[in-house]
Amino acid sequence: MNPLADKLADYVNFSPIIYKAFSEIDRKFFVPIGLEKHAYNITPLPLADNSTISSPLTIAKMTILLEPENVDKVLEIGSGSGYQAAILSKIVRRVFTVERICPLVKEAKQKFEKLRLFNINIKCDDGRNGWREFAPYERILFSAATDEIPKELFAQLDENGFILAPINKENKQIITRFYKNGKKEEIEKCEFVPLKKGIIL
Ligand code: SAH
Repeated sequence: MNPLADKLADYVNFSPIIYKAFSEIDRKFFVPIGLEKHAYNITPLPLADNSTISSPLTIAKMTILLEPENVDKVLEIGSGSGYQAAILSKIVRRVFTVERICPLVKEAKQKFEKLRLFNINIKCDDGRNGWREFAPYERILFSAATDEIPKELFAQLDENGFILAPINKENKQIITRFYKNGKKEEIEKCEFVPLKKGIIL
């Protein structure tokens, strides 16, 4: 147990399964060395290469909006520290997560092994390609903000699933759900690092 789940529950409405995932995954394993004392603060922290481990409140909101209960496969674009993927691994059957900064992938992979989170698959790639081998996914989560969803990702989305992504719109970012039939649903303002092209070895 860690204190973050209860702190977050003051701000968001957790389902019992999501609350349990936040209690089971200890954020201190995912924050940079030296910043562990801030692990249970509801603030973003710096990571390598100017990327961030998102605020736990942001992770909590995205997890709830993803409606992951009873989902089989999720694809996340932008693994970062791996914290979001670790939370999802307690809720869905299999998590696939892609990160463009290869050293971050190596670090996250070691954490997943140490924590025995064997249902997470991670690779270094430009997430705009998705992860075709294991498609279709019932949920695709963007953990970085983009102008538009690449067509390839719609191709990898299950018929009954949706994509949840921070979309750049008029100098703001809006969390948006996209369905396979072309419908979309704008939910609320948010703040994420931008989706970038290519990989960093
Ligand atoms: N979910 C993460 C938050 C990561 S911040 C966590 O729990 O810590 C967003 C991440 O998206 C950054 O690590 C950034 O490098 C990554 N990213 C940006 N563009 C990307 C792309 N095209 N493909 C894969 N990852 C990308």
